[in-house]
Amino acid sequence: MRFRYGLILGALLLAVIGFATQIGLVRSQPAQTSQPTSTLFENVRIFNGTSAQLSAPSSVLVVNNKIEKISTGSIAAPSDTGLTRINGGGRTLMPGLIDNHTHIMMTIVSQAELLSPNTTLEVIDRKAETAAKEMLLRGFTSIRDMAGPAFGLKRNIDKGAEIGPRIWPSGAMISQTSGHGDFRTLKELPRSATTPLSRGELLGAGAIADGVDEVLRRTREQLMQGATQIKLAAGGGVASDYDPLDVSQYTESEFRAAVEAADNWNTYVTVHAYTPKAIQTAIRAGVKCIEHGQLMDELTAKIMAEKGIWLSMQPFLDDEDAIPFPEGSPNRAKQLQMTQGTDTAYKLAKKYNLKTAWGTDTLFDAKLATRQGVQLAKLARWYTPFEVLKMATSTNAELLALSGPRNPYPGKLGVVEEGALADLLLVDGNPIEDIKLIENPAHNFKVIMKDGKIYKNSLA
Ligand SMILES: [Zn+2]
Repeated sequence: MRFRYGLILGALLLAVIGFATQIGLVRSQPAQTSQPTSTLFENVRIFNGTSAQLSAPSSVLVVNNKIEKISTGSIAAPSDTGLTRINGGGRTLMPGLIDNHTHIMMTIVSQAELLSPNTTLEVIDRKAETAAKEMLLRGFTSIRDMAGPAFGLKRNIDKGAEIGPRIWPSGAMISQTSGHGDFRTLKELPRSATTPLSRGELLGAGAIADGVDEVLRRTREQLMQGATQIKLAAGGGVASDYDPLDVSQYTESEFRAAVEAADNWNTYVTVHAYTPKAIQTAIRAGVKCIEHGQLMDELTAKIMAEKGIWLSMQPFLDDEDAIPFPEGSPNRAKQLQMTQGTDTAYKLAKKYNLKTAWGTDTLFDAKLATRQGVQLAKLARWYTPFEVLKMATSTNAELLALSGPRNPYPGKLGVVEEGALADLLLVDGNPIEDIKLIENPAHNFKVIMKDGKIYKNSLA
């Protein structure tokens, strides 16, 4: 009986597809006869993402979305293509920048706006689209998104319906009850089996899960939607209201559940964690990357070095770029405690040669979002300009590649070399000599290319 219904359904489906094809609803794959597009950069000096020296004046040919040829001699322009020729005038050609800790859906929308039931999903989506476009025009061609419902935006960017960076989405940050991803009010407690989802969960910003079974389910739900890695909250956070910084979140077996579910999808788990206990518990369960790590100690750094664990750090300081929490509030107190750890954490990262990635973690503030390049240049307190640029290009790309087969953009990123994906910036000056150039992308980034496509060319 079931089989026969299957046959009938199948026949119906075929008929529908046939009809849809006739009326043009189903598009056939475009034939490979369309003209390739190409761009020839001439007279550029290359920062290739890994070497501290700029190249001699060179030419770089991009065909479709890849770097086809690099030469210090001249490159014959392909005659059969729609060629764009860019005379670099001796400027620096470098890889597009990568921010490894963003919340693209929550970058320029305020926290109050986000949590208010009066703010529609459409409003949040429009703001996220604006945030993504502005981010690409600041020279950020790839981002690793560390919580938020970015799946739809990513798809729209990839198919060209929106403008923005390549996105590695985590989906919702998975959090225990009372954890860093639990943004309910106390009035919403206790939760029963029939309690509807909270606002943060409905948005897809956080997913509350307690116990191995719930952690497995929530992890798999993110993977089903296209998460490229999984993010869990392992300890107290600044922006959340019920978890002091010293608290650890999740047991080792709960972490292990997420790690196993992610591992079955050949990807990894990263965690929000500041303290030694939170970091060490997560690592024992197989977590591969730590977001923040500001309050780590020497032993924790040693363990991370031994096990090759990534540290995804942000130069959080108590400066003009700190998220403004009311003076005297618990959030502000936690912020002060956390930012005091930043200097020590970077020194430990250097001492133990940890695999260190960089990201901004900008949230809830349109003005702060514009400071992305400034946040990167701040690393010059601890690193040479070359080390800063390498971290935001080839090193950050290594962390992106940790998603293995879940990486949505196969190909090399973060480098300028033949065969790599063509995400490129043409910088007016030499950022290895003057890191401050990256603070003002509107003025100093003359050309911005992502996936072989030019999004900005102020030399034209
Ligand atoms: Zn974050």
